[in-house]
Amino acid sequence: MLKSCLLCNRGLNNNLDLSFILSFRKITPKLVCEGCITSFSTLVDHKTCIRCGKLSAILECADCQQWNDQFVNRAMFQYDEAMRNFFQHYKFQGDYLLRKVFQDQFVNFIQKILKENELIVPIPVDESTMTSRGFNQVTGLMEGLDWKDVLINQRSNDSLHQFQRSRRERLQQDSSFILKSGCDISGEHILLVDDIYTTGATLRQARTTLLRNGATQVRSVTLCR
Ligand SMILES: [Zn+2]
Ligand SMILES: [Zn+2]
Repeated sequence: MLKSCLLCNRGLNNNLDLSFILSFRKITPKLVCEGCITSFSTLVDHKTCIRCGKLSAILECADCQQWNDQFVNRAMFQYDEAMRNFFQHYKFQGDYLLRKVFQDQFVNFIQKILKENELIVPIPVDESTMTSRGFNQVTGLMEGLDWKDVLINQRSNDSLHQFQRSRRERLQQDSSFILKSGCDISGEHILLVDDIYTTGATLRQARTTLLRNGATQVRSVTLCR
């Protein structure tokens, strides 16, 4: 059992009080302290954009009005300062243990929205990221789920240049994903899974590839929006 919070290293109090024991709830050891847990902002039970899942007072957020397509995404948390900080440690400093912080919640969330006929497909990282990071941060969040690895991320090492491209250029860029050879996804309804929905371009590129290869329907779920 962990003795200190995975995120801030403060001591964790794992002692169970009597009311908790009497409630017969399943006991899951704490990984993160109360202070860190409450620093994240959930989107569940909030007014969100019907397309991308972003916190939004209006039905369809400004970003989605610009996309002007039928893409649908669901998300669990706001991508705010606390989340940016989390992903800094998880992805960029490569602390794989941090996948545990949201894993159970995210898996439950996916199971709740998953339709019976849907196939779960994670967004893969490209080869150079896999080499430097050593893991896919998306599948790390999905342990316990059945998914199918059907995509290859071909994004070259020019991701730095992406920032210099205009929004229009980025949107017009063709998909950086290809289908793994030997995968048959014809007629499949697919639920794409990613960690963060930022511009929505990555998920749309993956969807383009999947639809082009015969998938019937593609929507997505992300931990953050
Ligand atoms: Zn903490
Ligand atoms: Zn939206």
